[in-house]
Amino acid sequence: MSDTAFDDDTLTDPEDAKWHHRPQGRVPLNPLFRWPPRPAAIWRWYRGAWLQITSVSIAFLIAVLAYAVFLPPLEAMVTFQFGWMFTVWLLNMVPQTVIAGTLHWWLYMRKGQGMATKFEARDLARDNALFTFRNQVWDNIWWTLGSAMTVATVYQWGIFWAMANGYVPTVTWASSPVWCLIWMAFIPMWSGLHFYWVHRLEHHPKLYRHVHAVHHRNINVGPWSGISNHWYENALYFTTYFIHLIVPSHPLHLMFHIYFQQTTPIFSHAGFERIIPNEGQSAKAGDFFHQLHHRYFECNYGTSEIPFDRWFGTYHDGTAVSTKDARQRKKNMYRTKAKPQ
Ligand SMILES: [Zn+2]
Ligand SMILES: [Zn+2]
Repeated sequence: MSDTAFDDDTLTDPEDAKWHHRPQGRVPLNPLFRWPPRPAAIWRWYRGAWLQITSVSIAFLIAVLAYAVFLPPLEAMVTFQFGWMFTVWLLNMVPQTVIAGTLHWWLYMRKGQGMATKFEARDLARDNALFTFRNQVWDNIWWTLGSAMTVATVYQWGIFWAMANGYVPTVTWASSPVWCLIWMAFIPMWSGLHFYWVHRLEHHPKLYRHVHAVHHRNINVGPWSGISNHWYENALYFTTYFIHLIVPSHPLHLMFHIYFQQTTPIFSHAGFERIIPNEGQSAKAGDFFHQLHHRYFECNYGTSEIPFDRWFGTYHDGTAVSTKDARQRKKNMYRTKAKPQ
């Protein structure tokens, strides 16, 4: 039996016909947490995440480049000054714009691969009053570059400043190379853990209605939807960086954390399972795990990196049973409360 095959035909979701495209079989989770241990599957999972051209490896490469070439040294960040603070803002804005802009251009403007591996049949919304500026793409660009980048930048200013002044524990690669490597590898896991709980909290009907609904305007997601969030949601979402105020970190850890947190959602919200630049060539893009969250809401709050959803009973594995469960959960949550928008 393979990792992902359905073991029973009755699990096939009759609603599958509503997807334009969906990956076959169960939605996979990180095999690290399976018992008994399966070293070959774990190796394939991590090789897939770090060694191939994926959103994780791209985030890591940008972090190294930004740190080595553009980030001012910590000594320059001892006091709040315009120069380094502006550079930090640009280091958020430029990669976000280039990656989301390029992916959006290829998939939705040039329509470079047509409908190949696109999850939803519809195009992104225009002339729709649900969205700021009545346009989904402009709405998403505003909430990303206006709101998310601003909040993220302000938090980063504080952390770099605290690191520069020795107010928080920092490490160097020369003195603690093993710790530096281990902590780097754990950052995606920390990010997933933090995201699961913050995200579940945001699905509380009160917070959902006024805050998280901005992100969920996008049932049919695109690259700019990734961190298209309300101000309050961004204020919560980016508290993930505060771990560097406690856990001994190097500025490169923060840089990787930043790009992991900010650029991988561009890919996971691409709306297409794969990017196909040429016939016969393709790279993983969209994340069906999270795409299911955008359609059924009360499931898959975390990421596939740590299976919190399985442990806490909110995992949608792509089957009909999971769809039924998610609907029931939503009904229970809103039984005595206002309906979600
Ligand atoms: Zn959500
Ligand atoms: Zn999302």
